[in-house]
Parts: sequence; C-alpha cells; structure tokens
Amino acid sequence: LADTVKRKEGGRLETLDRAGLYRMQTPQAARLDVWRDAFAKARGDATDDLALVEDAGVVPEVVPGEEDNFKVTLPEDLERARRTLGGAEVRTGIGYDVHAFSRDPGRKLVLGGADFEGEPGLEGHSDADAVLHAAVDALLGAGGLGDIGVHFPNTDPRWKDEPSGTFLAHAAQLLKEAGWTVQNLDITVLAERPKVQHRSAEMRANLARRLQIAEERINLKATTNERLGFIGREEGIAALAIATISRFEP
Ligand code: MG
Repeated sequence: LADTVKRKEGGRLETLDRAGLYRMQTPQAARLDVWRDAFAKARGDATDDLALVEDAGVVPEVVPGEEDNFKVTLPEDLERARRTLGGAEVRTGIGYDVHAFSRDPGRKLVLGGADFEGEPGLEGHSDADAVLHAAVDALLGAGGLGDIGVHFPNTDPRWKDEPSGTFLAHAAQLLKEAGWTVQNLDITVLAERPKVQHRSAEMRANLARRLQIAEERINLKATTNERLGFIGREEGIAALAIATISRFEP
C-alpha cells in the first residue's frame, strides 16, 4: 500500500503498520476444483473470492497488481475508467466578428468585457463586444451548436445593449450540458486603436470567469492591420477566436 492506513475508533485515530497490508484486486485465480469447493461452502460475509478459498484452508499467493486495474463501484469510478481507457473526443471551432465604430459619442467601447474609457464605441445591437462574440462563435462552432445569431438574434429586444458576457456564459452552459469541457480559447484582436494588450489580463479574467475555466487556458493577442483595409482606416474592430473542447465518449 502506498497510502498510510489509519483506523478511527471512537475519538482516537491510530496509524496502522501498512507493511503487511494489501489491497486485493480482481481477477483472482484458483484451480477450478478449488473454486467449486470454496463456493459450495461459501459464507455470506465474504468480500472477495479469495476469502472463500482462504476459508477452505488454501493460502493464496499474492502478486503485484496495477493501479489502473481499479474497481468500478461509484459513479466517479466510471468517470475514472473513461479517462483511463481514453476515448476522449476533441473538437475545435472558429469564430470571427467585426463591428464598425459608432458615430454615437455616448457609446462605450467594450472588448473582452473590459470598458475602454474615452475610446469610441462600436455599433451593434448588444454591447458590440467583438472579442466575446468571436469567442462565443468559436465555442458554439466547436460544439456543433450553430452560431451566436441563432441563439441571440439581433432582432430580439431582450439582447438590446446586453453585456456579451451573458452570451458567453450561455454558450458555456450549452457545452457543459452536452458533456463538453473547454480546453482552451485563443483570441486575436485586429484593431488600429485602442491598444488592448495592456488590458489582456483583465479580459482573460472576464472570459475565464464566464467560462469557469482557468485563466491560463485563455490566450489573447492583438495586432494592427498595418493600416490596410477597413480596420486600417479605423472604421471598425475585428476579432478571431479558436476554441478546443473535449469530452469522454458516452
Ligand atoms: Mg458581433
């Protein structure tokens, strides 16, 4: 036994000498006539087959077992068996989103759930957070769950000016219900302005909180478009995202 074994009796805890202790695994083997004889005389309280042959006076030989040969008794054992046997299904999804800068001076810029004070906001039905929208589409894409427009149509007044963290949390919930775990999310922001890299820790934390995963599973990169095209002309901001999800095959 690798673990220290203790016995608790009343208020006392006692450390047992584990030198002579073994955990018994299956299969346990004996000659057929020994088994038959032992089972014929079986008592009701034996917890493994060997106990029966021990009762019949046979001294079994103990051989080393394997940690991976564990008993499936509780639901968590079944989960462990699935992990041990492999069979993990892995999928990826891609997301892209773009929003034009708004002419409304009162419109706030929100990217990755972070407020960028003093920067021109983006046009959109919700809060126009292109970073979270790309992330949502990557996650929905990986799960084969359509896209953000299917789940949150921009014709629905419920989503008017809605913080996009709502959409991200919903996508995470849909994946969870289908048995998926989000492994990682990699995002690129394409913008001439503002500079977002110095806010990446905050944005990653927002994403991690909504997805209920560790921050280190979320990466956020930023690039300009080298002054080319609509992004280069500062007409809007775009974001790309790729998500990897996995689950154990049922
Ligand atoms: Mg969008």
